[in-house]
Amino acid sequence: MTLFEVKGWELKQEKIAVGGVVSKKKAKKEKKEKKRQAEAEANAAVQNAETAAITEVVANDQAEEKPQESKKRKADSEHTQTKKSKTKQVEAPAPIVSTTTKLTPLQQKMMAKLSGSRFRWINEQLYTISSESALELIKSQPSLFDEYHAGFRSQVASWPENPVDVFVKQIKTRATTRNVNAPGGLPGLANRKVVVADMGCGEAQLSLDVSKFLAQHNKKNKRKLDIQVHSFDLKKHNERITVADIKNVPLPDESCTIVIFCLAMMGTNFLDFVNEAYRILAPNGELWIAEIKSRFTESGNNANPEDVGQEFVDALKLCGFFH
Ligand code: SAH
Repeated sequence: MTLFEVKGWELKQEKIAVGGVVSKKKAKKEKKEKKRQAEAEANAAVQNAETAAITEVVANDQAEEKPQESKKRKADSEHTQTKKSKTKQVEAPAPIVSTTTKLTPLQQKMMAKLSGSRFRWINEQLYTISSESALELIKSQPSLFDEYHAGFRSQVASWPENPVDVFVKQIKTRATTRNVNAPGGLPGLANRKVVVADMGCGEAQLSLDVSKFLAQHNKKNKRKLDIQVHSFDLKKHNERITVADIKNVPLPDESCTIVIFCLAMMGTNFLDFVNEAYRILAPNGELWIAEIKSRFTESGNNANPEDVGQEFVDALKLCGFFH
């Protein structure tokens, strides 16, 4: 698992997973804090993304662990569902109206501020509602997806490393240095086909990069590689994407060998996504996750940096994975 620390992307974790009512006073304080933060950020967009260690979590083929846990998971998702209604009081900043007139530098700066706050608002929505509501939201207002990704792209551009590139590199390296299904090689089905599900793929960059790599590799090499990438998201932004809520994707059980969540564990019911990954992964398949550190810290600043993500990794083990 790769964890990224991104300033200005902190999530109010207590709103998502831990429970407890957010008091009005606290909400007001948070709002003030958020405003201050937004102002500071407008001048200096996100500058730093810090990469922590990469850990891969491998699908466990001991299926008997699963039934015990399914009750707990249900309870968890019910718990987070209840939270949803208590946290939806945020107002959307005004949508960006596109204009054909040339903007002055000041206008450009103001436009950037506005689009930054729209991005943060959509981002917060997607993290604090259930995946069903997210699908509804994007279906009813598809332009939110485009606004979100315009903001997302500009954030990622300022990071030292894009996590999608980390995963693409991982695929290329393992595919070219080891045989499929050999130790250290990519996991494949019995016929050595590697099947990847990119859950919450955004603009499906991973699929594009992998198919370019595959075309080049297979042109030059006798030993052909067979890698198929399925890309799922809330909007069909291009032909590579299948629209689906990642808690329920249209793929058969045990049909994939790698499932990727690249900054896509959005939604209060994110453990449902982990269960879905378990369902579609073949035995010995791998789960790859890149997330923002604050997604997994209680307070965001007083946790021991080395423990960040540990609770989540423990939850993954309870869902049947090991690493
Ligand atoms: N993985 C891409 C995009 C990350 S942004 C990348 O790293 O570049 C997170 C993406 O997850 C968004 O495109 C959002 O629409 C998608 N997403 C969030 N919840 C989802 C859900 N329940 N089902 C499908 N996609 C979801």
